[in-house]
Amino acid sequence: TSLLDKEQMQGLRAIREFLKVRTSYDVLPLSFRLIVLDNDLLIKKSLNILIQNGIVSAPLWDSRRSAFAGLLTSTDYINVIQYYCQFPDEIDQVDQFRLSSLRDIERAIGVLPLETVSVHPMRPLYEACRRMLKTRARRIPLVDVDDETGREMVVSVITQYRILKFIAVNNEKHTMLLKKSVRDIGLGTYDNLATADMNASVLDVIHLMVEYNISAIPIVDKEYKVLNVFEAVDVIPCIKGGAYEELSSSVGDAMSKRADDFPGIYTCNEDDRLDAIFETIRKSKIHRLIVVDDDNRLKGIISLSDILKYVLLYGEEDDVQEA
Ligand code: ADP
Repeated sequence: TSLLDKEQMQGLRAIREFLKVRTSYDVLPLSFRLIVLDNDLLIKKSLNILIQNGIVSAPLWDSRRSAFAGLLTSTDYINVIQYYCQFPDEIDQVDQFRLSSLRDIERAIGVLPLETVSVHPMRPLYEACRRMLKTRARRIPLVDVDDETGREMVVSVITQYRILKFIAVNNEKHTMLLKKSVRDIGLGTYDNLATADMNASVLDVIHLMVEYNISAIPIVDKEYKVLNVFEAVDVIPCIKGGAYEELSSSVGDAMSKRADDFPGIYTCNEDDRLDAIFETIRKSKIHRLIVVDDDNRLKGIISLSDILKYVLLYGEEDDVQEA
């Protein structure tokens, strides 16, 4: 193997070691807030709370049992929308659904409930990463047990985004060694991409996300040039106030309603190297990279899980199968 391969492996190993000696707790900032929603809250109201607080997910709390009741994410709202599509006559009922009804909604539309995984904050970060890859969870709650009451408590939630940021910020010396290009290591997905055009309705795009089990659809023009990306979290403002009729409006309209602090979309080239990608992760709020050619035509997509999977598993014996 070449020096390039050797250095690449050396960088990856150093990062894996780092993840084994740090805990999920280390990823958390010194002070942070955690918004936990009561399971009895109306789904309709939960939307406003997320929007007002600028968040896209929250742990749920069952106050009757005094227990953690899972994580609310944009997938849950997409499930509600699917329910509405399958049972359009029940719109009045949809308005009365509480967060505790989310499991019933999953059952009614026939989706498998998401595996509720959580990790203890003091376990190695490596474990949380493996758990995320295995279950395809993009975020997992950190759950601890209160010494005095013996009850579960949610400390925080860690996301793939946070973990990659943490790696990037603390491993500059090691990410520097990752000089192979996106093309060389085959990072991301290049075949059978799900895309839509600006005139597609929000519903069309939601159905695509469900079909592919993904959370972002690149919006392209006739020449396959990338114009924007519609994300699962964009659904939240669309159904604010129970305005389900608006789902038939175009993704173009929906994306124009994004908050002012929308971080934007990030693109890269197949010749870009992993060290440069980590530089971008260090500096920006990236949730995925859209791979384009020199004419801005769509080539592929690199999700955060693609990066995490490569960093954790490339070259390991059990490689991708276990992830
Ligand atoms: P995301 O939540 O951003 O969709 P995931 O990590 O769930 O990311 O993606 C799962 C897999 O699907 C990844 O390997 C990713 O490359 C791929 N993927 C993401 N978006 C698309 C898309 N629009 N079309 C096809 N594959 C995609």
